[in-house]
Amino acid sequence: MSAAISYERVRERLERLKLDFALASLDVVLEQGQKREKTTVEVLDDLLGREISARFERRVGTNLKLSGLPAPKTLESFDFEAQPSVPKGVIEELATLRFLHQGENVLFLGPCGVGKSHLAIALALKAIERGHRAYFLSLHELVTRSRVAREKNRLDVLMRTVTRADLFILDEVGYLPLESADATFLFEAVSKRYEAGKSIILTSNKSYGQWDEIFPDPVLATALLDRLLHHATTINIRGESYRLRHRRQGGLPPTA
Ligand code: ADP
Ligand code: MG
Repeated sequence: MSAAISYERVRERLERLKLDFALASLDVVLEQGQKREKTTVEVLDDLLGREISARFERRVGTNLKLSGLPAPKTLESFDFEAQPSVPKGVIEELATLRFLHQGENVLFLGPCGVGKSHLAIALALKAIERGHRAYFLSLHELVTRSRVAREKNRLDVLMRTVTRADLFILDEVGYLPLESADATFLFEAVSKRYEAGKSIILTSNKSYGQWDEIFPDPVLATALLDRLLHHATTINIRGESYRLRHRRQGGLPPTA
């Protein structure tokens, strides 16, 4: 069979197999193979490698979109010197994502503006970059959505979304007190993830002792904390708001 016919057939087969990226890079791969006198196996390796990395990138892009992350905060842009109560070594260890593979939770506690959400988002981004699915919600969003879902009899759909992700990030626990039905939904979501060995990153401006103030039922608060803290790293961030401090250092009053 002539080379031209084989080439056509390869194109057709790549298309049928939906190896779109391999198809798109076929000519480049073949040319480079010839120029650099690659073996057939090396050419195949290059072609399939391109398909795999392009698929991975596409998946990361999709996962990023679906994650609902509110802002692109990174560990690289976190100023550790400005926040000495954040143990850099612990954050670097978390960035290896071992906690995720072991189904452990991460809790960032501290007052407003000290970088809790920043670090939570940065770790979530790391997970997404490595192909994991993350899902971010503030507690307020979770409550709003669960109320809408309850009315439409679709709570199970929301529960699946929250439990399916490899990593769930629950931001801003503690700003609003929960009603009984909301607290129950949150408890179920946390329990399901706990039983499935799936990680949660949670941020809160309340210390654990103050969780009774958020939850209508202290027994539920205790049971929820039990599950959250069973396998968990807690990072207590102290100090004042990063932005306020920077404003002051710039000579402006804190309320400017
Ligand atoms: P929190 O969630 O604790 O209320 P955020 O994480 O939202 O605070 O931080 C408030 C703002 O300050 C964000 O824009 C965040 O990126 C920034 N920020 C806070 N701490 C730091 C830090 N140490 N280095 C760089 N930016 C920071
Ligand atoms: Mg926050």
